[in-house]
Amino acid sequence: TTKKRAAHVVLLASPGTGHLLPVAELARRIVAHGGGAEYTATLVTYTNFSSAFLYSTLASLPPSVSTAVLPQVPLGDLPADARVETRIFTVVKRALPQLRDLLRSLLESPSGVAAFVADLLSPWALQVAVELGVPRYLFCTTNLMALSCMLHVPELDRTTTCEFRDLPEPVHLPGCVPLRGADLLDPIQNRSDPAYRLMVELGENQRLAQGFIVNTFDAMEHETLVAFKELSDKGVYPPAYAVGPFVRPCSGSGGEADKHGCVRWLDEQPDASVLYVCLGSGGTLSNKQTTELAAGLEASGQRFLMVVRFPSDKDCSASYFGTAEHGDDPLRYLPEGFVERTRGVGFCVPLWAPQVEILNHRSVGGFLSHCGWNSTLEAVTAGVPTLAWPLYAEQRMNDVMLSERAGLALRPSKGSIRDDGIVPREEVAAVARELIAGHKGAAAREKARELQKTAAKAWAPDGPSRRAFKAVVAKWKEHELPLACSAEA
Ligand code: UDP
Repeated sequence: TTKKRAAHVVLLASPGTGHLLPVAELARRIVAHGGGAEYTATLVTYTNFSSAFLYSTLASLPPSVSTAVLPQVPLGDLPADARVETRIFTVVKRALPQLRDLLRSLLESPSGVAAFVADLLSPWALQVAVELGVPRYLFCTTNLMALSCMLHVPELDRTTTCEFRDLPEPVHLPGCVPLRGADLLDPIQNRSDPAYRLMVELGENQRLAQGFIVNTFDAMEHETLVAFKELSDKGVYPPAYAVGPFVRPCSGSGGEADKHGCVRWLDEQPDASVLYVCLGSGGTLSNKQTTELAAGLEASGQRFLMVVRFPSDKDCSASYFGTAEHGDDPLRYLPEGFVERTRGVGFCVPLWAPQVEILNHRSVGGFLSHCGWNSTLEAVTAGVPTLAWPLYAEQRMNDVMLSERAGLALRPSKGSIRDDGIVPREEVAAVARELIAGHKGAAAREKARELQKTAAKAWAPDGPSRRAFKAVVAKWKEHELPLACSAEA
């Protein structure tokens, strides 16, 4: 029997738009830039927490990327207040048998499987790849600092006993800006929450990968990449490949009629004058904070474009699970008369806006963002500075990176934040004004534009991210199926 070369890559995206979009982009690049090998791919997704957006994203993939959707996982036994991470990890763990069946059948098909790529929140799936003898990689949809932190959680767990917010000293991750305990990953902030144990397991399972493909780039995280390489050269970690920034192309290519109303509004505004306000796919504010944010934007006198979600007093990631059940208008939750009073200066979009297109519009001068990593990369590649408003996941860490290391973001001053965690309207107004019209804002915009230029070079024909991408994809080409598998072909 002759061995055959498998040129098929299987990718798994954990539930959530912020994971699906970059994994879909990775799949697209694998088939487009396989570097000699004609790769095909299967993108595997979950049914849980998926929106109409999932299906439109899948439909826009090239024909050489097939898709497979794992069946809905029952979660009825989880407590009503289970954290978003607990829900995601439970879906991933409970769907392992179906994933195993799928991988087996792909292995037995003529194309075989050259590599399996799980995203950073689905590393339990790497166990299946180990079992089946398939090369296994982890795609980190966030930055290397956050991945370093996740990998470090098992050790932090062994070596500390207090809540991280009570740690007396900052945590020094290799090559990263020092982090206060309270700024570490949100799901490890309460040791008695079930998400905490799962985060320890997550870090352990991520180590099953033979390499980490990271949606970051050298100019963004140079020191961290250098320090990580030293550790992987010593065999502490598998190697990391910085292949980013992955940002999906602008959707709006059509004429005036195809333009979203908010883009037509942007067309009429002066250059770099508009603050775009959007908290990712999941970010949610309380009723009080919604009022303060709106009142602050109004008081700032700055132009703004705001994506408006339903408020929730319980969960700052509530929109993550979809908003369909409301059947009502989120604009109703804004202060009385707000939309009318700010007409002309402000533009409100319910639920969802074409973000990449907006950030790349010449009239956008700042981005009030929850600092989700996709949003951050989208802002960086558009050269737009950030007003950091972190809410959950690794967003406080991202804020520290952007504000304290990279100089790309301003943030509300810590002293202004009230005991109940609310940023009052006066502070919203002050920091919005500073970002769009002040000196600090101008300095952050300057930095953002510098980094934009470097980011654009990362994927140039000989750019560092493209080279890293080719290096990892080339490894899969070398992989040959075990004889037992190829004999069946
Ligand atoms: N997004 C969008 N329109 C919206 C809200 C979000 O296009 O109104 C996209 C955004 O461009 C980004 C993704 O959804 O690509 C959100 O990912 P991110 O990592 O920023 O945050 P998450 O939603 O995972 O917290």
